Formats: sequence, structure tokens, C-alpha cells
Amino acid sequence: MNFKFATGFDIHKLVSGRKLKLCGIEIPFEKGLLGHSDGDVGLHALIDAMLSASGLPDIGTLFPDNDPQYKDVESIKLLEKTLKLLDEKGFKVFQVDLTFICDEPKLSPFYQKMKNLLSKKLKIDSSNIGIKARTTEGLIKVLKIDFIACFCLVVLTRKENFTVNS
Ligand code: MG
Repeated sequence: MNFKFATGFDIHKLVSGRKLKLCGIEIPFEKGLLGHSDGDVGLHALIDAMLSASGLPDIGTLFPDNDPQYKDVESIKLLEKTLKLLDEKGFKVFQVDLTFICDEPKLSPFYQKMKNLLSKKLKIDSSNIGIKARTTEGLIKVLKIDFIACFCLVVLTRKENFTVNS
């Protein structure tokens, strides 16, 4: 099988007056991620990994944050566009692994919802999607800069090689 691997990373500031969205799921919290788009670090890290693994330009080049068409855009729309680009290049997502860095809120109650949405969008079994989070052990409070970050590993395969149970 012809696999392609890449990592992605993103970090956004947490601020008042914004909705918090991670992996396309709205999470009830008093703050949200600041960004030109909805600030979804999970999807941004994933999209960047997908683009990198398929040899395409990065997220900032394809979806510039000074382009008015991406102002407040739902990042799930950017994921859909990215999937189309991968499809045109003959690639399919095989596996995804995401690690959030986040002190608050607690994300584990939302993992399954995130997996269900990604599973639907990427057309892979949710057992091929890993989502977890680590805290900074209070470093965020020491730094006095509230943020959520996300690391992502993506494995792509050629479409013609793909079977659901592989
Ligand atoms: Mg971003």
C-alpha cells in the first residue's frame, strides 16, 4: 500500500465573545477561539496535515486569513474543500490522530461527537480516528495567554488501494 504521512499543528487564542468550535463541534464554554475563520484548531491542524501529505500548498496559502471570503467561515467548509482537492489528486484519508493542548474546558465528553463528524466527512471508520487532549498543568495561567492548540498526524492512501477494513 502506498501511504503518505504528515503532521499538522495549530494554535489560537481563547477570548470572550466567541463560540468555541473544535473538530466542527460546538462546545459550551464562556470563551471561543479568536481567528479570521471560526478558529477551529482541530480542523486547521487536520487540514494542514492533509494538504502536506498530499503535496499541496499549506492552509494559509490556500485559504488566506486576509481573504474576505474566509471571514468567519466554518472550518468544516474548508475541510470539505480540502477533501475535494485530495480527491482530485487521487488521495483518501486512511487514519487521523489528534492531540489537543487545552486546560479548559474538558474536551473528553465531546470526543465521540467529533469522531462521528470526522468519520462521516472523511468516510473512514471512527476506530481510525484518535482524539485526545493534554493539559498544560496550569502553565496557561502562568503565561497569562489562554489558548487551545492541536497536533495532528494524518495518513493518506491512494484511493484505488483503499478498502474499508484495511
Ligand atoms: Mg488556524
